[in-house]
Amino acid sequence: MTDTEKQHDLVVRGLTREFPSGTGTLSILRGIDMTLDRGEAVAVTGPSGSGKSTFLYVVGVLDEPTGGSVEILGTDPFGLDRKGQAAFRNEHVGFVFQDHHLLPQCTVLENVLLPTLPGPGAGPEQVDRAKGLLDQVGLSERLEHRPAELSGGERQRVAVCRALVNEPELLLADEPTGNLDQDTAEVVGSLLLDLAKAHGTLLICVTHSLELANRFPKRVDLQEGTFVEVLTTAAQGSPAAAESGGE
Ligand code: ADP
Ligand code: MG
Repeated sequence: MTDTEKQHDLVVRGLTREFPSGTGTLSILRGIDMTLDRGEAVAVTGPSGSGKSTFLYVVGVLDEPTGGSVEILGTDPFGLDRKGQAAFRNEHVGFVFQDHHLLPQCTVLENVLLPTLPGPGAGPEQVDRAKGLLDQVGLSERLEHRPAELSGGERQRVAVCRALVNEPELLLADEPTGNLDQDTAEVVGSLLLDLAKAHGTLLICVTHSLELANRFPKRVDLQEGTFVEVLTTAAQGSPAAAESGGE
């Protein structure tokens, strides 16, 4: 690794992930490279089954790579034991899943506080932060509601707050707007981009929505196991991008 690479907050080099299958080996990720710094956001697109979730899970230290290297904030998380990995994940990584994964029996506030439990627990500071985030997404009147009492977009906003409650440096979102109508998807997309920018977070967002992807300054398309860079309208700074990005 060169000195220039060391300066990046996220460095992925030659990442591979294979899965054994009945008929041999499935080579899903075949040498992925990515560098990202805090405050930067990238959209990952690609056909269904191309390995987008696989990539996100590896970068989120929820799955181990077959080869290559991942360095997050100067640490190789795969050099840690399982307990160390869990602690690292909890401290540095926030995950927004497509189907939100909220606990139905818990209130909105309790759901947002869940990631604080393995750490110092939900003290006044954590509760304040959770309430502050929920306020930012317009849900301060819904703290005691259960997920079933919320709309899809509201649930997804709760999931975004939960991913941010430990103030992770790395925020990973797996098709966070996949189950939402277009307007709600736009709100959740803006929320991710705005919060990531405000908190100086590294944001990687998998999406099949070209509309959402085009609002990111950077987009990579997963094709046959490697990333191909695609110029987004936001990056081009075209008038069309400015119009649709300003909503
Ligand atoms: P995407 O998110 O782009 O739709 P995935 O990353 O979920 O794609 O999956 C990519 C490919 O890897 C699929 O063919 C899937 O079946 C395969 N795959 C994912 N996880 C596993 C696993 N644990 N074991 C075997 N194959 C897997
Ligand atoms: Mg997926």
